[in-house]
Amino acid sequence: MVREHLAEMVDQGLVTPTGLISHGRGEAFDYLMGERTIPPALEAERAAAAFLLRAKKPIVCVNGNSIALEPKGLIALAKCIPAKMEVNIFHRTEERMRMLIEYMESQGADGILGRDPDARIPNLTSDRALCTKEGIFDSDVIVVPIEDGDRAEALIAMGKIVISIDLNPLSRTSKVASVPISDEISRAVENIARFVGELRGKDDEIDSIIKHFSAVRTRRDTIGYICDSLMSEFKEN
Ligand code: ATP
Repeated sequence: MVREHLAEMVDQGLVTPTGLISHGRGEAFDYLMGERTIPPALEAERAAAAFLLRAKKPIVCVNGNSIALEPKGLIALAKCIPAKMEVNIFHRTEERMRMLIEYMESQGADGILGRDPDARIPNLTSDRALCTKEGIFDSDVIVVPIEDGDRAEALIAMGKIVISIDLNPLSRTSKVASVPISDEISRAVENIARFVGELRGKDDEIDSIIKHFSAVRTRRDTIGYICDSLMSEFKEN
């Protein structure tokens, strides 16, 4: 179902063929994790909610794959925080930007940024550097689903708290992210939004979650979880 939908989105020009390759890599890791949210991801999703509730200028950044896969969940997440939304893509044409923004609007988004960039992310040469000052450039906490490593690194270098949603705990994005979430995008955004609702107004709990969260521990636990479940098949009874 998801594969057919993505292939259709490629035909429409919203997703690029390389987006299908990224999706395949994600599927492989999802398979290794049993296609469910594993405990370290859930902990990271709770931490993401805490950081988003503490943010002064939160933003949810979207690209072709994330828009094709989970438009409504991403919009719901941005609305519940509330956070701005901005489209940022590698293969940028005016036509593709227009189609992606119109698609998001048809799914319920309003005020989505990205079409008229007036700033650049430093240290990036591709069109992914193009962004808006009021959105990505000035944000302090940014959610980046299905991100590439170069841009994640550049956002960290700008001093932002980067919350990545990337099933691959070994990717450069996951390695540099402040909050690396190794979970499938639909499950991740739903869980973060639920935690935003649960944590809102609980200042002490939010502080404590932020203080005790460790990105390195999360990645180590994620990889440990994958290794243990792979090896469990060979354990003697
Ligand atoms: P990096 O540049 O960070 O090392 P990469 O070369 O894998 O990573 P991309 O090809 O842009 O960069 O990959 C985007 C990432 O998104 C992949 O690592 C993949 O695991 C992840 N991904 C793909 N589909 C999903 C999905 N549905 N939910 C969550 N993550 C996904």
